[in-house]
Amino acid sequence: MTESRDYSELRDPVSDLCRRYPDEYWRRIDRERLYPQEFVHALTEAGWLAALIPEQYGGSGLGVTEASVILEQINRCGGNAAACHAQMYTMGTVLRHGSEQQKQRYLPEIASGGLRLQAFAVTEPSAGTDTTKIRTTAVHKGDRYIVNGQKVWTSRVQHSDLMLLFARTTPVEQVSKKTEGLSVFLVDLRDAVGNGLKLYFDDLEVPEENMIGKQGRGFRYLLDGLNAERILIAAECIGDGDWFIERATAYARERVVFDRPIGQNQGIQFPLAHAYANVRAADLMRYRAAELFDGGFPCGAEANMAKLLAADASWEAANAALQTHGGYGFASEYDVERKFRETRLFQVAPISTNLILSYIAEHVLGLPRSF
Ligand SMILES: Cc1cc2nc3c(=O)[nH]c(=O)nc-3n(C[C@H](O)[C@H](O)[C@H](O)COP(=O)(O)OP(=O)(O)OC[C@H]3O[C@@H](n4cnc5c(N)ncnc54)[C@H](O)[C@@H]3O)c2cc1C
Repeated sequence: MTESRDYSELRDPVSDLCRRYPDEYWRRIDRERLYPQEFVHALTEAGWLAALIPEQYGGSGLGVTEASVILEQINRCGGNAAACHAQMYTMGTVLRHGSEQQKQRYLPEIASGGLRLQAFAVTEPSAGTDTTKIRTTAVHKGDRYIVNGQKVWTSRVQHSDLMLLFARTTPVEQVSKKTEGLSVFLVDLRDAVGNGLKLYFDDLEVPEENMIGKQGRGFRYLLDGLNAERILIAAECIGDGDWFIERATAYARERVVFDRPIGQNQGIQFPLAHAYANVRAADLMRYRAAELFDGGFPCGAEANMAKLLAADASWEAANAALQTHGGYGFASEYDVERKFRETRLFQVAPISTNLILSYIAEHVLGLPRSF
């Protein structure tokens, strides 16, 4: 079983790299709301972000299991892999569904760090979770597509050269299923947009050769990438969970109140022990999902459950760590409140806990679709 391996050949060098970016670095990034440019650059230079790119395109050709260990270790060391994790799974859409010409054109440059593909624009102000209701359209005209619409929440768009864009190519009234008629495009941001979290498209021209795969099949491509995304994010949550428990137990051993370490009180011990057990359980599901994924087996249920369990466990560990630190949990120099915010996000994005529960209820338990 993969979880019995410790992957020290990956963990040790990633930890060495992370040591160059200690707590003060992440604190400053958080305080000044910066992008961790130097850290992401170092990761790229070392080749870690190209883990999933096949060797023939200049990457290391590793599996999702190994990629997940890399991201886990970043969070385990106190960093935040969310700054760059999308490159790993966004690239997968090009790899799985792109033409050979697109792969040869983009993947080697992505692997070398010459091009950054870190953004995937799906969410819109009015569509939210209901992805098939997106209103951004791409209309075929000559040798290009003309894009109009608006996206929100496109992470890392200011730090990306390329972006995947999800748009409707056939109006919803003209398709038999609302999941049809959606397409994925590779947009070269260097020519296309300005900065900011909001993205407006006003007659943006995208060359037709930048469509990924077949027109109208975009929803399928989106779904295909989700299992890898779920597993990688589950691993980040595991890394967070272990970070919280390690920090909290260290503090609980040292902090003396009523003439004894607070960690001697069961009221402090039990929440940490409970969170630890849940982190380990979620970790098993993460390795199971990754093993299935890498073996080419269906893993939708396991990937979703791994994400659900890991996000819950890391949040539980975050809560226990905050409580253990008392008032100091809220002092930025202890890093607990920063990491608390970072891990809490995973209950909402990139997929909310509710939507995972709906998936399990409908697709695993066979209950009627609720929406
Ligand atoms: C930090 C951050 C980064 C993000 N990065 C990206 C990105 O890079 N690219 C991108 O495309 N998007 C991104 N998003 C958007 C994210 O994917 C969405 O926020 C998320 O999908 C939810 O959409 P919404 O915010 O519109 O919530 P809504 O769809 O309005 O939902 C609000 C709440 O209602 C719940 N809900 C809705 N419908 C149901 C239902 N049927 N049953 C039960 N509960 C329901 C949801 O689970 C959620 O908790 C990011 C968001 C954040 C916060």
